[in-house]
Amino acid sequence: MTVNMKPEVLLQSDASLTGSNTLGFSVVAEHLCQVEQLPQLQAALALAKRSAWPVLLLGGGSNLILSERLPGLVIQLNNRGISCLEQHAGQVIVDVAAGENWHDWVAYSLSQGWFGLENMALIPGTVGAAPIQNIGAYGVELKDCFHSLTAWDRQQQRQVTLYPHECDFGYRHSIFKGVAAGRYVIWTVRFRLSTTPDLKLNYGGIAQYLSDQGIDQPQPLDLFNAVCDIRRSKLPDPAQLGNVGSFFENPRVTLAQYEALKRNFPTLVAFPAGEGRMKLAAGWLIDQAGWKGYCAANVGVYEKQALVLVNHGGGDRRSLLALAAEVQQSVREKFGVMLSIEPRQYPAA
Ligand SMILES: Cc1cc2nc3c(=O)[nH]c(=O)nc-3n(C[C@H](O)[C@H](O)[C@H](O)COP(=O)(O)OP(=O)(O)OC[C@H]3O[C@@H](n4cnc5c(N)ncnc54)[C@H](O)[C@@H]3O)c2cc1C
Repeated sequence: MTVNMKPEVLLQSDASLTGSNTLGFSVVAEHLCQVEQLPQLQAALALAKRSAWPVLLLGGGSNLILSERLPGLVIQLNNRGISCLEQHAGQVIVDVAAGENWHDWVAYSLSQGWFGLENMALIPGTVGAAPIQNIGAYGVELKDCFHSLTAWDRQQQRQVTLYPHECDFGYRHSIFKGVAAGRYVIWTVRFRLSTTPDLKLNYGGIAQYLSDQGIDQPQPLDLFNAVCDIRRSKLPDPAQLGNVGSFFENPRVTLAQYEALKRNFPTLVAFPAGEGRMKLAAGWLIDQAGWKGYCAANVGVYEKQALVLVNHGGGDRRSLLALAAEVQQSVREKFGVMLSIEPRQYPAA
C-alpha cells in the first residue's frame, strides 16, 4: 500500500528491504519513505513523532543486522550532489550529499585530481553513513580527510554543522554511534582533500602487490586499483554472498596482555593502537579457534577471511547471532579476549 503523506513524500507500508541489506536477510519494514529534500526529511520525522514510531535511518544496509520485521518508519536518504566549496593552497573542501554511493564518490574524487580517499575504495554503503563508525581501510580512516558535516539535529529541530572535535572519532567509533546515537541525520559530509598525491602504501600488502605488478612509481590510480583488487580477492561480494564485511572489531588490549598472549601464541597478529595498547587481528583469533570456512545450516564463517560471517541463503538474524555467540565464546576460552560485534543490530537486541 502507498499513501501520500505530504505532496512530496511517499510512505510505503510493508515494504521489502531484502534487497536493501547486504546480508540479504528477508526483511519487511512497517513503513518506508525515501527522501531527497530536507523538507521531506522533516515531514517524515514529524510524522514518526506524531505516530510514536521508532525511526531507522537506512543507507546501503551494509553495516546492519536487521530483524525480519522492522517496526515504525525506515527513512532512506536519496539526496544527491557533489560540490567543491573551496580550492586553496593545494587543498579542496568538497561537500557531498549523504545519499551518494561511497565508492562512486571515491572514484569521482580521483577523477577530479582530489587525493586522500584511495585506500578506502570499494567500501560499500553511502557517504552519509561513513562518519557513523569512522570507516577505515588500509591504514586510512574517514577522520583523516574529514572537514565537517551538516546534519539535521532531531533534538534541537534545526540544521547544524559539526566539526571533527565535536564528532569524537576513534577506531570504528564516533558520537553518532555513542552518546548522540539517533540524534543527528547526516545530510552532507565535507571532505578536505589534497591536490597533491600522498600515497599510503605501507598497509595490508599494498606495497607488495604493486611491486608484484611491476609498478615502482605508483600513482593514485594505481593505489586505488590495488586496493580494489586486494579487497575483491579477500572479501565476498555481497551480491553473491550476503555479509556485512568485518563482523567483529579488532579487540584492543594492554601491552602487558599482548605480551602474555604473544608468549603463548608466538604467531599472534597485532598492530600498535596508541597509548600503550595493541589491536589484535580478530580474524587471526577466529581462524586459530578453528572457525574459518565453518558452515552451519544457512550461515557460516567465510572460507578466505574468518572475520566475515556470511549468509549462505535463507539465514536470518537469529541464526547469525547464534553463530556469532559460539565464535565469541570459543575465542574467549582460547585467548581470554572478548570480541565485540561491529555492525548495528536493529531493533536493538
Ligand atoms: C563487503 C563489505 C566490506 C566492508 N568493508 C569495510 C571497511 O573496509 N571498513 C569499514 O569501516 N567498513 C566496512 N564495511 C561496513 C560498511 O560498509 C560501512 O560501515 C558503511 O559505512 C555502511 O554504510 P551504509 O550506507 O551501508 O550504512 P547502513 O548499514 O545503512 O547504516 C549503518 C548505520 O549508519 C546509520 N546511518 C546511515 N545513514 C545515516 C545518515 N545519513 N545519518 C545518520 N545515520 C545514518 C544507520 O542508521 C546505521 O546505524 C564493509 C561492509 C561490507 C558488506
